[in-house]
Amino acid sequence: MKTYDIVSIDGDGIGPEVCQAAIRVLRQACGEKRLNISPYPGGARHYQRSGQVLPEETYQACRQSDAILHGAAGMPGIVYPDGTEVGNDLHLQLRFKLDLFANVRPIRLYRGVRSTLADWQPGQIDYVIVRENTEGLYASRGAGTNLRGEVVTDTLVMTRKGVERVARFSFELARRRKGAPRDGKRRVTVCDKANILRSYAFFRAVCDEVAREFDDVEIDYAYADAITVHMLKRPDFYDVIVAENMFGDIISDLGAGTVGGLGIAPSGELGLDHGLFQGAHGSAPDIAGQDRASPLATILSAAMMLRWLGDRHADEALVQDAARIETAVETVLAQGMVVPADQGGSARCSEVTEAVCRLLG
Ligand code: ATP
Repeated sequence: MKTYDIVSIDGDGIGPEVCQAAIRVLRQACGEKRLNISPYPGGARHYQRSGQVLPEETYQACRQSDAILHGAAGMPGIVYPDGTEVGNDLHLQLRFKLDLFANVRPIRLYRGVRSTLADWQPGQIDYVIVRENTEGLYASRGAGTNLRGEVVTDTLVMTRKGVERVARFSFELARRRKGAPRDGKRRVTVCDKANILRSYAFFRAVCDEVAREFDDVEIDYAYADAITVHMLKRPDFYDVIVAENMFGDIISDLGAGTVGGLGIAPSGELGLDHGLFQGAHGSAPDIAGQDRASPLATILSAAMMLRWLGDRHADEALVQDAARIETAVETVLAQGMVVPADQGGSARCSEVTEAVCRLLG
């Protein structure tokens, strides 16, 4: 039986609670032997102690692992001299160094979760945002200019290679899905501002080129401002949305807001050789250390990790374990007895984790 080396990085704020919760669930779902989960340090607090947000030892372990599971990183007061937050550098560095170009953020309304949008039922909101993860505006991090405190710049960067691969990833993903809930059509929506900037016109043009390889998937376009309205008024139209880095960051939080919020939104950052999995939320310092965070986003990210590993290694048992975790989460939510605080209930992080584990037997 194949075993897998997983690096876990707890991080800051609620990171440790939700990461440990997901590890408990993974062990319950897969048994003790299939995953070798090794904890490594990193994050803003670690930077405070050691001067390193991503220690070399952690990076090397990530590079050699089969997958990485992360809680969350970042603390508001821990910043670089230029004012930017230190914690974000943990996953930003991993994104760039491990070339995790596709940030996959499923937006799915689960049974038992009340959408903030009136009248939408489970099954009607089920799409995936693919955020380009290594280029766009955020590629400029640490390289912008600040001229005498008067003029500042950050540059939006796109390459043909970068856009092509995230577009191809999105079309291939659409090919494996069942299509949009509204009409069953396999569809990739390109989210940009092609009407305003050359870079986004380029993004759209390259997506168009890639679309020609996929006769069975419809291409659709939406400007980044307009899509914020469409995502609220006709969420069932969407199947896969591909977006530049910053736009993807913003619209994936909006999407999460329509299906129960950040505490339930998973995320996987994928490259050709590596995968990093963490909830779509940050370190939520306001509720850290109080056993109040919802672990569901990280638990669902852990399920994504199993599915990704299972697909890569043709390991059907792992794919089934992923499905069992997702079903357990769905059942906990649908039963409505153990409801996390961010879903209007009062269940603690540990109680939600316990409920998911119990259902896994
Ligand atoms: P980042 O920029 O690193 O993504 P952020 O500043 O956007 O972080 P988050 O840390 O994601 O903010 O959290 C925003 C708010 O959402 C938190 O203050 C918290 O109240 C809520 N929140 C986030 N994650 C969870 C969770 N897992 N469970 C419950 N509430 C959460």
